[in-house]
Amino acid sequence: MYTPQEILGAAKAILPVLPKLLDEPTANQLQAQLNTYLAAQDIAKIWETLEQTPQTQHWRDKFFEAKELNKSRSVSQLAGNSQLGGDMVAQPSGLIYACPHCDYRDVIFLLGMDPDPCPDHPDAVLHRV
Ligand SMILES: [Zn+2]
Repeated sequence: MYTPQEILGAAKAILPVLPKLLDEPTANQLQAQLNTYLAAQDIAKIWETLEQTPQTQHWRDKFFEAKELNKSRSVSQLAGNSQLGGDMVAQPSGLIYACPHCDYRDVIFLLGMDPDPCPDHPDAVLHRV
């Protein structure tokens, strides 16, 4: 499982992109919840809030996936196996892509990667929001 610091980090990173992930009332509601739980450092409630919608779940999974990739890359850098410099997570909150036909959202944390196609509309071209 993730450390409280990692979960707090995810909550802070997702706050500014909630309006891009969700419709306005839901985004407002989740922002209010997260702000309250961040102030209280209530990790369990923060986690529950991130679980509340498929969009935030997907964002959260990608966020931790990018963190893991970044970690393993730093390790290989320390071992001298990589010539690449800089932080792979170039966008802390990610670039959000949306399906034009439904409310599917994907997020790119690592520049140069492509968004995953919408499971319901695999041929749709996702646009950045
Ligand atoms: Zn779709």
